[in-house]
Formats: sequence, structure tokens, C-alpha cells
Amino acid sequence: MLGRQRYSLGFRMNYLLIPKELRSIAEKIEAQQRISETDALALYRSNDLNALGMIANVTRERKNGNYASYIHNRYINYSNICVLSCQFCAFAAKKRDAHAFEYAIEEIIGAVREALPLGITEVHMVGGLHPSLKKEWYLELLRGLHALDPDLHIKAFTAIEVRHFAQRIFRMSIHDTLETLREAGLGSITGGGAEIFDPVVRDKICRGKETAAEWLDVHRAWHQMAGRSTCTMLFGHIETIAQRVDHLRQLRELQDETGGFTGFIPFAFEPSQSHGILADIKRASAFEQLRNLAVSRIYLDNIEHLTAYWVSLGLPLAQVSLSYGVDDLHGTILEEKIFHMAGATTPQQQTVASLEHAIREAGREPVQRDSFYRHLNGDKRLARPDERELVCA
Ligand code: SF4
Repeated sequence: MLGRQRYSLGFRMNYLLIPKELRSIAEKIEAQQRISETDALALYRSNDLNALGMIANVTRERKNGNYASYIHNRYINYSNICVLSCQFCAFAAKKRDAHAFEYAIEEIIGAVREALPLGITEVHMVGGLHPSLKKEWYLELLRGLHALDPDLHIKAFTAIEVRHFAQRIFRMSIHDTLETLREAGLGSITGGGAEIFDPVVRDKICRGKETAAEWLDVHRAWHQMAGRSTCTMLFGHIETIAQRVDHLRQLRELQDETGGFTGFIPFAFEPSQSHGILADIKRASAFEQLRNLAVSRIYLDNIEHLTAYWVSLGLPLAQVSLSYGVDDLHGTILEEKIFHMAGATTPQQQTVASLEHAIREAGREPVQRDSFYRHLNGDKRLARPDERELVCA
């Protein structure tokens, strides 16, 4: 891993405001010691949200100072046609379904071409596990996007898409599949598809999907190729807090091994279209979203960045989360489909001005970043030489 900037600890713990049961954890954080899974459970059980925020903020400011970043990006979902039918997913469709869609390569390239003059630095592209698109289709798409602008970072495909390509389409090893995608222009893989690692919960909310070990194996292989990726957790459905902690533990362990995760992005389950075992789930409250972010920040001591996904939280709550461990507000996105097909009522995009305004109003310093959370200035170069040290992996 590259060297990291450590900011001086301007923000100190006020132990008078921390309840007795959390003080030993707060002391560990101040002493830069790792907390245990038992500690993480104690944090999740606490209702003292401000104390959690204060502890999380110590880690946040130590890692990222007063900066809060965002990326100028364009989302693309190339198709929602999928061989699986994950119970929680309102995005996927079968070919015969009225809401099925599949864009042609020229349409996708055209959409990205239109977004380039806006200054995007990244295209973020995922889709369903398509039953019939061929290897050449994906490679031609990547090559076409790369040819549009070689500096445009292509962040694409979840670990489960990569596994689908490897097993059913490319018929290659995971390593060779990733290498083939990279040669065609892939810059990094996305963190989606992790859901919750617990096998019993997985069997109930996404039967047939890759296991935790398989998800982790794809990211491990990518990291071993010097690739970088983000990681995620889908929470707020039928999982327990112990299962959340177990999920975080497995991410932290892989990060100890590879150092390849640049940031962590938790998503709350969107229940508007849910049915079956998920029918009666209520949307995670603002309190729960902030608590989950704060605990994640405190526990994941080896992942430099914590992103609040405003599509799920809404920008107002994402703004508040900047005081609960978060140092990144994700991106402009320009067109989000997955959460909105599930019923999200947040906007489909944000302007740079609205993200920067939200950050400034929260008392943080906005900074545009690239796909690896490196700070940029207006002409896409690192803002100040010393900020090279901010590179997290
Ligand atoms: S979550 Fe992904 S794999 Fe599962 S049904 Fe939806 S698109 Fe397919």
C-alpha cells in the first residue's frame, strides 16, 4: 500500500459525554487500538448516538481531516435482465417482463459521451447476470468507453457479475477474466453484491447468489493483481446486529490481507417493493442509518474512507452523517436505477454545487475526488503535492 496521510487529532474525545459502557472502547480508539467484535456489538446496542458519533469522528478526522469528498460520475445500468431472482431485488427482470431493458453498446457510449463535457471522471456500470450477452459484447463495450476518453475511469461489474462472466460466458478463471476485462479498459470493480455474508440470511434474501467466500475471492484476486475496489453491506432487512458485525469482520480480515479496499459503502434495504419474507420490513430509520455508519467507521480501522450513499439516505441525512464518521458523499451519479426501481424517492442525480453546498454547510471542506478517493482540482490533477499521501491504496 502507498503511504497514508495521518492528520493531527484536532478533535478530542469528551469522556463526560460518553456513557460508562462505551468508555473503554472510546479509550481504545483514542489510543489507535483495534476494537473487537464484542466491542462492535456493544456499539450497535448503544442508543447514545451522539457518543457514537463522537467516537467515530475521532477516527474520521484522524484519517481524513476535515475533508469531505465526492466524485463526479455517471451511472449506467447496461441491462436489468438477470438469471437470478434475489428476493430483495426490484431491479432485475426476465427477458419477457415489461420492465426488462437492455441497452445497445452505441446507446451506452452515447450516454457517456454526452456526460463527458460535464466533467465526469468516472463511469460506474453494473447490470444483471445477463443470460445471452457474449464475451465480445462486454469487451467491445469496455473498449468503446475507453476509446472515448482514456482518462475516464471505468468502474464496473460486481463480484457476482465477474463470477458469472468467468463461469458461464468467458469460461476462464477469475484471474484471467479480470485480466481480460482490464485489458479492454476496466479500471476497478464495484463493491456490490456483498449483501450480508451470513449464509442463512443469504439463502433467504438472495438464494442462488455467490457465497461470501466467493465474493471475497473475486476481490482478493483483483487486489492481488494490484486492482482496487470498494466494499458494501446491505443492512436493515432480516439480519441481526451479530450478522452485521460478522460481515464487517470478514471485510476487515480481507483488508488486513490485501489492503485493496479503498472505501466502505453500506446500503439500507429499500422496502417499498418488497414481498415474501421481506414484506413487512420497515425502512431503516435515520437513527439506525447513522448508528450503522458510526459503528462501521469505528470498527473498520483499516479502510480509509466511509461513503454515505445519498441515493439511499437522502442528501439531508447524508449531510448529517458527515458528523458520524462519513468523509465521502459518493457522487453526482446522473442517473440511478437500482434503488429507484425499488421505490427510492430521492433524486436521480446531484449537481457538484449541491454536494459542495451540503458539505460546506456541515462545516467540512469539500473536495472532488477520483475513483481511488484521491483529491482532484478542476483540471483533474491532484490538488496539492502533499495530497498524494491521501491515496489510500
Ligand atoms: S441483486 Fe443482482 S443478481 Fe440478484 S436478481 Fe438483482 S440483478 Fe440479479
